Amino acid sequence: MSQDVKRPVGRRGLILILSSPSGAGKTTLTRSLVEEQAGVLSVSVTTRPKRPSEIEGRHYHFIDVEEFKGLRDRDELLEWAEVHGNFYGTPRKPVEKTLAAGQDMIFDIDYQGTRQVRQKLPDDVVTVFVLPPSFKELKARLERRAEDAPEVIAKRLANARVEMERWVEYDYVIVNEDLDRSFQSLKAIQAAERQKRERLVGLSDFVEGLLAEKID
Ligand code: 5GP
Repeated sequence: MSQDVKRPVGRRGLILILSSPSGAGKTTLTRSLVEEQAGVLSVSVTTRPKRPSEIEGRHYHFIDVEEFKGLRDRDELLEWAEVHGNFYGTPRKPVEKTLAAGQDMIFDIDYQGTRQVRQKLPDDVVTVFVLPPSFKELKARLERRAEDAPEVIAKRLANARVEMERWVEYDYVIVNEDLDRSFQSLKAIQAAERQKRERLVGLSDFVEGLLAEKID
């Protein structure tokens, strides 16, 4: 696990945000990270209808608009946005708990939410934008998924053009041609960001101890 308590040098948890247009493969990438226990996935609340393959509490917390507005108005969401005509938001408490434990939190959110999180927690945010290899492939992936109605797919494709223009706001960009290679790139990004000097906790004491060590 990412908790480093037994090591001489610990670290603060990262906020690893992945964004992309629907169908570029970001959900698969975030879930692969979680499967490797590389972090905890932030489970959003949403007002959009559940897809047949989705599980309540695992993919999203599916709630109605009234519940959503209640959470938002009580400031229980770290960020929120309207995407493709539905509301989405990140519950604040799990994020605070995970980061306090020194673990990474992985987010699958859009550019509007990314801006809000970056503004609120600027020091530990790392952002990755995932692009499809072509627009044709994006369309094919959305149609293959076959979980959304044709008009929903059409809306997502139209929005994809606007979303893709946001790549300039991100720290890293992955063009997802091959899922395995993209996953390796994502892990490399995470590994490097974890080692950033300013994120390491107890480093001065550790180096002081190293220098004071007596060797025969
Ligand atoms: P989908 O409906 O395909 O699951 O997600 C649609 C879009 O909403 C995706 O771009 C996804 O990243 C974004 N999204 C999912 N959860 C959140 C959230 O909590 N906040 C924000 N801002 N966007 C989200």
